[in-house]
Amino acid sequence: MRRVTIFGSTGSIGVNTVDLIARAPDAYDVSALTGGRNVALLAEQAIALNADLAVTAYDECYDDLRDALSGTGIEVAAGADAIKEAAHRPADWTMSAIVGAAGLVPGLEALKQGKVLALANKESLVTAGPLLLSEAKAHGATILPVDSEHSAIFQALVGEDIAAVERIIVTASGGALRDWPAEALHKATLKDACTHPNWDMGQRITIDSATLFNKAMELIETREFFGVRPDQIEAVIHPESLIHALVGFNDGALMAHLGPPDMRHAIGYALHWPDRGHVPVDRLDLAQIAQLNFRPADPKRFPALRLAYEVMEARGLAGAVFNAAKEVALDRFIAGEIGFTQMAELVEATLSTLSSEIVTSKPLTLDCVLAADHLARKTAAGHVTAQ
Ligand code: NAD
Ligand code: MG
Repeated sequence: MRRVTIFGSTGSIGVNTVDLIARAPDAYDVSALTGGRNVALLAEQAIALNADLAVTAYDECYDDLRDALSGTGIEVAAGADAIKEAAHRPADWTMSAIVGAAGLVPGLEALKQGKVLALANKESLVTAGPLLLSEAKAHGATILPVDSEHSAIFQALVGEDIAAVERIIVTASGGALRDWPAEALHKATLKDACTHPNWDMGQRITIDSATLFNKAMELIETREFFGVRPDQIEAVIHPESLIHALVGFNDGALMAHLGPPDMRHAIGYALHWPDRGHVPVDRLDLAQIAQLNFRPADPKRFPALRLAYEVMEARGLAGAVFNAAKEVALDRFIAGEIGFTQMAELVEATLSTLSSEIVTSKPLTLDCVLAADHLARKTAAGHVTAQ
């Protein structure tokens, strides 16, 4: 039996992970599940998977979780420290699926066990990629990417020499507003930005798909995880979302990874790795699909992409500032305080205000990352007030 822990079990990735694990109850022994305010779902999952421990991120949700699990023998805890402590419970396989910078510390702590970290939390790589990789190396742990594009790249690279890679192409659906004229984007409402054409995901990543901030994060993720140069990484709009990424080699070959837009494929790959195992996703019918389309990802229309290249060049704490400013911009857009196109303006303004701090603050330690995150949130909030 493999011992597993899921951080963010009640989210979109978490629910899909629970789905796969629940299908093979004899294969897994669930150590800990963590969630947020959806205590009813967390309790339901903990009972269904017979978890040892359930943790809510919020102290004020503790009583509800304790009541929902009373008499089950399942341990209950609350708060950020309890989530960190859950990362120390023995687990052979840990899913990192908390959304946002809050996912960084639990992932770093889990790596100390020297086992497998299935990484959906892209913010960990964007804010602290080198730190995460060095921590994994120091403890003999393995990080498996769960973002669909990075799982695709990882799979295309099995048995290959990274030195033979010329380029990596990450595809983007183009998000909810991909067919809107660029001049109309500033009018897009929350509802407009929340309807993803292909994927069913959490609200935050769905809006990030519409701005292409999600793709921008994924370009940075590619740079950090696979260690390739920014000029080797490209984004292309592929409206069908069936090819997730392509790896180009020095002999001209392009290895494409195709699959249905169902995150259980990437999660299942990480769960069964290094083997392949059955995953209950739809099988593609190529004759029915008939054609695959591609168009350029225009950095003028999507300033997030241009900013991603700046962050990839700057490295250091630029990723932490970029991510934190993006999280503030997203919060403010969701709250109706700023418009759709103002999100990128806010991130750009924050990056430019903090560029000297980014360059001078070294080395990339967890404390520096958390300080940069804090400073960027304050700076971004100041820019909103000034707008
Ligand atoms: P989601 O919003 O659906 O779920 C997030 C989970 O994190 C929930 O369990 C929530 O309770 C928990 N959470 C939120 N704030 C927290 C905090 N401060 N502390 C502790 N826990 C907290 O998000 P999601 O769409 O499942 O995405 C999770 C991660 O996976 C993100 O980093 C996202 O970018 C990445 N990802 C998601 C998808 C997808 O298809 N949804 C695809 C690729 C990558
Ligand atoms: Mg992705």
